[in-house]
Amino acid sequence: MSVEEARRVGLCFRCAHAHRVVSAKGSVFYRCRAPGLPKYPPLPVIACPRYRPRGGDEGGEGG
Ligand code: SF4
Repeated sequence: MSVEEARRVGLCFRCAHAHRVVSAKGSVFYRCRAPGLPKYPPLPVIACPRYRPRGGDEGGEGG
């Protein structure tokens, strides 16, 4: 994972619904597991009604 990947992916990069998949060739995909949304949304996702920060602790920016 990298800053470049975070930019390319957008919100899914940090979303609890996202599942990061690495293919045999090394390509990285982000699959969305939120019900009612496309499994493979066009990236980057810049706005999403189901976005939920991973970790279950919203707003935590401690370090
Ligand atoms: S819920 Fe939205 S932000 Fe989260 S993985 Fe799915 S498309 Fe991406």
